[in-house]
Amino acid sequence: MKKGFKVMSLLLVFLMTFVGLAACGKTDTAANTGGGKYKDGVYEGRGAGNGGDIILKVAVENGDIASIDVIEHKETEVLSDAAFDKIINAVLENKSINIDVVTGASFTSRGIIAALKDALIKAGGNDDIFSKDVKISVAKEENELEQTYDVIVIGGGGAGLSAAVEAQAAGAKVVLLEKMSSLGGNTLVSGGGLNVPGTDQQKALGIEDSVETFIEDTMKGGDNINNKELVTVMAENALSTAKWLVDKIKVEFMSDRLQQFGGHSVPRALIAKGNHGTDLIQKLKAYGDDLGVVFKMETKAEELIVDDNNRVVGVKATNTAGQEIIFNANKGVIIASGGFGANLDMRKEYNPEIDEKYKTTDVAGTTGDGIVMAENIGADLMHMEYIQTYPTCNPKTGIISYVANSRFDGAILLNQEGNRFVEEMDRRDVISKAILNQTNRESYLVWGQEVEQVGNMTELHKDEYNNLEKLDLIYKADTIEELAEHFNIDVNSFKATIEKYNKYAKNGKDEDFNRRGSFLPIEKGPFYIQKVAPAVHHTMGGIVVNKEAKVLDKEGNIIPGLFAAGEVTGGIHGTNRLGGNAVTDVVVFGRIAGENVVK
Ligand code: ADP
Repeated sequence: MKKGFKVMSLLLVFLMTFVGLAACGKTDTAANTGGGKYKDGVYEGRGAGNGGDIILKVAVENGDIASIDVIEHKETEVLSDAAFDKIINAVLENKSINIDVVTGASFTSRGIIAALKDALIKAGGNDDIFSKDVKISVAKEENELEQTYDVIVIGGGGAGLSAAVEAQAAGAKVVLLEKMSSLGGNTLVSGGGLNVPGTDQQKALGIEDSVETFIEDTMKGGDNINNKELVTVMAENALSTAKWLVDKIKVEFMSDRLQQFGGHSVPRALIAKGNHGTDLIQKLKAYGDDLGVVFKMETKAEELIVDDNNRVVGVKATNTAGQEIIFNANKGVIIASGGFGANLDMRKEYNPEIDEKYKTTDVAGTTGDGIVMAENIGADLMHMEYIQTYPTCNPKTGIISYVANSRFDGAILLNQEGNRFVEEMDRRDVISKAILNQTNRESYLVWGQEVEQVGNMTELHKDEYNNLEKLDLIYKADTIEELAEHFNIDVNSFKATIEKYNKYAKNGKDEDFNRRGSFLPIEKGPFYIQKVAPAVHHTMGGIVVNKEAKVLDKEGNIIPGLFAAGEVTGGIHGTNRLGGNAVTDVVVFGRIAGENVVK
């Protein structure tokens, strides 16, 4: 269970509901007046969320909803928090489940509402009763439609949060606009890997690394069209940034684990606690709160405001309450709104190959808004056609699979015919294309205990594992034959491939694909087989910036007052971003933008 809280309704709110003054939200229809709607008692209800069933317990007293307990859910932490908080509070305050979904958490919202319905039906409720209840909107209204700050940050992912806290720490009054109901963006759902050369972890493991090797790997991974100046800034600042995250922000990295992502010549990725971005986002937010950064959620930047001297002086925004708000910026605006992986039209506009056949790993907010806003006032864009797919995602949802990161620990990829077809440690684009050329555009990842013991991926990501099992996308068995049979793969060729691979692993040479990195046999059961497919993961192109995170126009001139950082920018990753380079990029350049906007 990830979360369990109980919110009791207040007498005051109860009375306000009676007189039709709902404390939160608008009243569109005549309300039921509470008492007598349901039979008193405690009822359990279930609704399908993103990660599995959401289970709630609803207590009915005096004929109406009195309290709600969250018994169990497997929704993504942070991303789903606002949905639980807002919906449960609003339902208790208004005694109604006739409620809108929360922006950016619609699946979770629907799951919560379905669970409430399920419980209340057991208490004698029905759709007729539910629909006559007060219609609640969870949108929050702003009192001031024009507000002034020193710095406006657009987007609350890793780059935006890093920029906001640095600018505020340097003395500026900062507001961060986030269009979703929760912070985090793609950074939150990332694996929390951060490439850093020269860490204590590398020293303890006897791994030799340098800023130069990191630059070389990154340039090579991006086919050398990367902006080397930006790559150098990222590499040179990686270690001090990791120290800042640990010492100042209190982010916890695994002390005994480094990951070697594809294309890196040595293991150099620190891995955040839990192997995801949650700790990073929560701690940056907490630090921002301490410093006094103002966070405006469900507030979408629509347009940059430019004065007569072409200086960016503010942002026009809208919120889910339907208001338009002008945010003036005394010092500048930082765009940190992420990439455009979740915007199908924009993907096809810049690279027609990346069409409907790809789902995406990205969160719903990554729709390229910042790129469009900047371009509209003359900013230059670069590398827009380079869109990265991640090879091993959930074929049904597109969500990135962290269980499938067993690949880095030594799992192999096979096709429906039971054959290997690519080097498992090759670049993401190469593996993704290779998978799309296989039967059903899918592939199978296979591993045994030798690999499982390296990273314990099925344990570390137990919730994901259980969900995959439910969707019949992963299967565990004592024999290799059972794995093949489960997914109708030819048993003989499957077995022959694994036997051959085991021989290669023992000799230390992969004669077919020259595998790099962890190279272990698949002999000890229980064994695992997981169905995987590629999905859009990162957009390399974006706004052109210089090494101070200042935005440039088509002539290469600085646009005064405008900064950009993170996935919204282009150039640093060239044609292809290496694993673990996004978090390093977004935190390094977010901080640089935050420092420079104040100067
Ligand atoms: P990065 O890794 O560069 O920080 P993320 O994807 O982690 O990028 O975060 C980008 C954030 O920006 C997301 O939370 C997204 O919802 C938010 N965002 C995108 N467009 C807008 C917009 N127009 N206004 C406010 N926030 C936005």
